[in-house]
Amino acid sequence: MIRLEAVGKRYPGERDALRQVSLHLRPGELGFLTGPSGAGKSTLLRLIPLLERPSQGRVEVGGVDLGRLARRRIPYLRRGIGMIFQDHRLLADRTVFDNVALPLVIAGTPRRELGRRVRAALDKVDLLRYERAQPETLSSGEQQRVGIARAVVRRPPVLLADEPTGNLDPALSAEIMTLFRRFSELGVTTLIATHDVALVERLGHRRISLSGGRVVADTAATEAH
Ligand code: ADP
Repeated sequence: MIRLEAVGKRYPGERDALRQVSLHLRPGELGFLTGPSGAGKSTLLRLIPLLERPSQGRVEVGGVDLGRLARRRIPYLRRGIGMIFQDHRLLADRTVFDNVALPLVIAGTPRRELGRRVRAALDKVDLLRYERAQPETLSSGEQQRVGIARAVVRRPPVLLADEPTGNLDPALSAEIMTLFRRFSELGVTTLIATHDVALVERLGHRRISLSGGRVVADTAATEAH
């Protein structure tokens, strides 16, 4: 579902952010990108929705070579990718419901469908009871779950998260990671950047470890090829 082949990335005037990175996530697979700050995790994630382009190599999403994707197809690619950030980027002046509904509203989803789809997403992250709340009245773990509901409300086949537990304590982090596992079990291909190696190891998930822009370990490398 997501395939990188010998990918390199160099930002203008910088050293290489990624070097000869190859990896493959099958549909419904859950993978964690780990490594120290500056290892290239965010850069790798940003290649998948074409927020950045590789300097070398090839990135494929759903069998499509992104290097050959027509510019007008980029919005369509991005519609199929849910993105979650550390700082969740919720709109403070809108309710939880409206925050989660936003991607549907932008996509022109008919009004009568909004309620059903927003509630289905809120139910998956166990926040139905807060649909009328303002985000700032929720805990940081709950706010992050609103961000996850917003990312999955259009049922994208791919989910990407960049340090989604960066601000959370260990118990809440484990809870959020369990949510991601559930989405992957529903068939969503999920790639998560985190510095929390201990948590990933404890949960026993696939770990792709980056250092200095290279993949230095991949616990599923033998299955992946
Ligand atoms: P990580 O997510 O693992 O912390 P990043 O992908 O953010 O790593 O960064 C990898 C390298 O690329 C770092 O050396 C960083 O300074 C550089 N880098 C990241 N984004 C940019 C950018 N927009 N412009 C220039 N250099 C960048």
